[in-house]
Amino acid sequence: METWQKLLQTSLTRPAEVTRRFGVNPTDLEEVADRYPMRIPAYYLNLIKEVGDPIWRQAVPDAAEMSDSVCCSDPLDEENQSPVPNLVHRYPDRVLFLVSSECAMYCRFCTRKRKVGGDNMVINRQTLEQGLDYIRQHPQVRDVILSGGDPLLLSDERLEWILKELRAIPSVEIIRIGTRVPVVLPQRITIGLVRMLRRYHPLFINTHFNHPDEITETSGKACMRLADAGIPMGNQTVLLRGVNDDPQVMKRLMQKLLAIRVKPYYIYQADLVEGTDHFRTTVEEGIEVMRALRGHTSGMGVPAYVIDAPGGGGKIPILPDYLQSMGDEVVLKNYRGQTFSYTNAEVKIEENRQTAVNDHH
Ligand SMILES: *Cc1c(COP(=O)(O)O)cnc(C)c1O
Ligand code: SF4
Repeated sequence: METWQKLLQTSLTRPAEVTRRFGVNPTDLEEVADRYPMRIPAYYLNLIKEVGDPIWRQAVPDAAEMSDSVCCSDPLDEENQSPVPNLVHRYPDRVLFLVSSECAMYCRFCTRKRKVGGDNMVINRQTLEQGLDYIRQHPQVRDVILSGGDPLLLSDERLEWILKELRAIPSVEIIRIGTRVPVVLPQRITIGLVRMLRRYHPLFINTHFNHPDEITETSGKACMRLADAGIPMGNQTVLLRGVNDDPQVMKRLMQKLLAIRVKPYYIYQADLVEGTDHFRTTVEEGIEVMRALRGHTSGMGVPAYVIDAPGGGGKIPILPDYLQSMGDEVVLKNYRGQTFSYTNAEVKIEENRQTAVNDHH
């Protein structure tokens, strides 16, 4: 057994173990963990500074998970957009392929809370073969996103088998892995793992940091080790109440990500997942975060803010109102709130052409 597998085994899985450690009352939390599994690796637990802080909120079950009736277990309609089990084909040229049912930590705000870590998420050799067959039979799929659960919880051998099968499909141009392992169990990023991964380029990794306190020497080294293997590193953050719903916290997160060679890719509005309402912010708050980034810090650190449309409509980008109006004159507003006007040359040329055609007749 590898070191990371032993570390994973010593993770806390019962709320009482956590509450005892922090001297708080464990009322109600056991039933929450029965419904939505809990797992916290010791490394991540040690990042908690105090009860209820941003690390705690992401990891420790909360009674509020049981009393949320805002929406549904599968708001993105993933199950209905799965032509074969565990493969979501929503967009024309790429698929989301769920290859692992387990995560190193079960994030309390997870979009796939309905199934990760539970008995109803069945992933085995047969479902993997079905997914691979689907990709083989659909050559329009040129981008495969491995997700789950967390693909990096698979053994090196199992993961390599999947990567090798995908690479043998000529229509697959790029492979991406979505993983929270660098954040919650960075010890998993072994030399052996990156030596294997680098044989399957072009390979991209999108990881998932939500708070600057998650960027430690250990998680930073894990990301840089992956980057050293030639893997472009991106980050997908979820906007979460009580975690990062503060423009200054978010700005610091984006800056620290760049310093560990991870490029911010997306900030997601929290999905309407049952059991996560206590994490949800308004869209206005998300726009405020974006306003605090553009112009105020490196453009490299400004991700796209997106809402994954309920019902499986896909990701829709949301921008502050930099574009004030658009006609012959385009009226713009910069990051300081100053207004500028820009003459829309293309529109002018197009109109002139129209006039010329009309004159001719
Ligand atoms: C997010 C997502 C993708 C990838 O979208 P990009 O914008 O290309 O990163 C693909 N399929 C599904 C189902 C997704 O949710
Ligand atoms: S690592 Fe990702 S899939 Fe797993 S619980 Fe966290 S958000 Fe959900």
